[in-house]
Amino acid sequence: MNFILLGSPGAGKGTIAELLIGKYGVVQISTGDMLRGEVSAGTELGKTAQDYMNRGELAPDSLIMDIIEQRLGRDDTKNGFILDGFPRTITQAEALDGMLKTLGLSIDAIVNLEVPEDVIIRRLTSRRTCSNPECQAIYNIYTKPPKKEGACDRCGSGLIQRDDETEEAIKQRLTTYNEKTAPLIDYYRDHPRFLSTPCLVAEDTMKDIVAFVEDNR
Ligand code: AMP
Repeated sequence: MNFILLGSPGAGKGTIAELLIGKYGVVQISTGDMLRGEVSAGTELGKTAQDYMNRGELAPDSLIMDIIEQRLGRDDTKNGFILDGFPRTITQAEALDGMLKTLGLSIDAIVNLEVPEDVIIRRLTSRRTCSNPECQAIYNIYTKPPKKEGACDRCGSGLIQRDDETEEAIKQRLTTYNEKTAPLIDYYRDHPRFLSTPCLVAEDTMKDIVAFVEDNR
């Protein structure tokens, strides 16, 4: 089962990805997580990506396509995958179409998560992320607090507010989303496997996705 998750930053892509992994045994391919891993490891790619990320802008398409091509070529994607935070531009979507054709793969569900902007801003400013690059677990100080304040439940590392989750950076990321990524909704709208659904309560969203997948099997 192969999925694409679309939606603005903070729409709930990570949360839904976790639930889909539990249900379908697929792997998550999050370009944001991969880039943050490169930044922490201090690689050249990470150094290039960091400035864009801190400014709330998108990393160059060519850089993203290189890391996606390598990632999709790995064996653990054979049981299915979730593309989370990718594609983010029409150029990336077109390149993905070509890549899937070459690899003989297709997408079973393209899911757009709908959330009003005021909810997004509240969600993102209250988000905390595990500082351990191998973990990157996500918490919310109101709705999903860690058991011990400031520490990750999974690995015990400290929790941080990401540089790109300050109010200013978030506003820039939403502007970038509206300009560059929202047009993907129209790009995919006529695709037979496209579903657009609210993402306010994750369990309800999951029910919609599972019903959609079952109907289209
Ligand atoms: P995310 O965690 O998905 O919100 O990604 C964090 C940041 O990484 C974004 O604000 C972008 O700067 C960069 N990024 C992640 N995925 C992509 C992508 N597909 N294309 C371009 N930049 C990306």
